[in-house]
Amino acid sequence: MSSQEWIARADKVVMATYGRQPLVLVRGEGCRLWDAEGQEYLDFVAGLAVCNLGHAHPEIGRAAAEHLKQLVHVSNLYYTTPMVELAEDLVRLSFADRVFFANSGAEVMEGAIKLCRRYSRERFGEGRHRFICMENSFHGRTFGALSATGQQKFWQGFDPLLPGFIFVPFNDLKAVAAAVDDSVCAVLLEPIQGEGGVCLPDAKFLAGLRKLCDDKGLLLVLDEIQTGLGRTGRLFAHEHFGAAPDVMTLAKGLANGLPMGALLATGEVAQAFVPGTHASTFGGGPVIAAAARTALGILSNPDFLAEVGEKGDYLRQGLMALKDRFPIIREVRGLGLMWGLELAQEGAEIVTACRQRGLLVNCTQGNIIRLLPPLIVRRQEIDAGLAILSAAFEAVFP
Ligand SMILES: *Cc1c(COP(=O)(O)O)cnc(C)c1O
Repeated sequence: MSSQEWIARADKVVMATYGRQPLVLVRGEGCRLWDAEGQEYLDFVAGLAVCNLGHAHPEIGRAAAEHLKQLVHVSNLYYTTPMVELAEDLVRLSFADRVFFANSGAEVMEGAIKLCRRYSRERFGEGRHRFICMENSFHGRTFGALSATGQQKFWQGFDPLLPGFIFVPFNDLKAVAAAVDDSVCAVLLEPIQGEGGVCLPDAKFLAGLRKLCDDKGLLLVLDEIQTGLGRTGRLFAHEHFGAAPDVMTLAKGLANGLPMGALLATGEVAQAFVPGTHASTFGGGPVIAAAARTALGILSNPDFLAEVGEKGDYLRQGLMALKDRFPIIREVRGLGLMWGLELAQEGAEIVTACRQRGLLVNCTQGNIIRLLPPLIVRRQEIDAGLAILSAAFEAVFP
């Protein structure tokens, strides 16, 4: 059956929540994907920063398969061993003392919101329940996560949202300070805004927030769902900016494509979750925890992370050269292997032109071409991607 036929069938029965590319993908390996016609693509989307170790990674597949045969699921009424080992690894590799497992980004954002409110109520009493969030942020589609998301376009038709979220401009430390009062429990943000268009924090923003939170007794919550797990050349993006959070969320790259989210917190904050306060049926199951543990073992290797940084510099140089040739590119920004090209025009045609030439890229905010190649990308694949991008710009903006 052809891709076109599959697409026609999908469009009859699947809810139309996505502006999907007309592409039916059937197989992947490393940085490559193949469609139903056998056409090959270089993948600079990586499932939106999910398949950080590429598609069909053999070791991760083996770890998952072993547990698929041995034990797929028991309730969180019981202990399972991969979950314990993964939690130990995350604690050893981060600021955190304790971990809660769920299945997606939005879900761990819900957990983070609940944890902050409960901790602050216990510590300071009633009335301290609001969050200072950033304009242009993205935290997910469930009601809590959506209420923390500072983009009205995502709220359309869904109000009333969860009360208690205040929005200030990203990178405006003064605005954050001015928004603090006795009703605020936490400052919640992405260290680099991903969906918002790869927006980087100013050099002192996160450290300034850390100090403000310490001074005012607020929690600092970092959503590292997209930036975490090696994407920026450090295991967690906040390590670049000298500001450890009290609470952090991870998901996307955690199990390299299998669904998993993790909520991490300091011991003091985590105490607020006692038996019965929060739960997930599937969270931390053996198959996914074993896959995640294998992925984390590879991603956290300092040599691997250094290599991500070097390849990121290499990609940046190529993108800067592209910017010099095509004035339609207003700005190139990013860190590690997370890059955005802000265009002076809509970017949809570039996405199409790249796809037709065998490269998958994403466009966010209408005019920002976002590149999130697998972290295992090789220099020759970066060269191939840049050559296609260049040809696409040549074709669309001659
Ligand atoms: C993708 C994303 C989420 C939502 O994750 P889901 O798994 O889609 O619920 C939240 N925050 C950030 C920063 C993200 O990039």
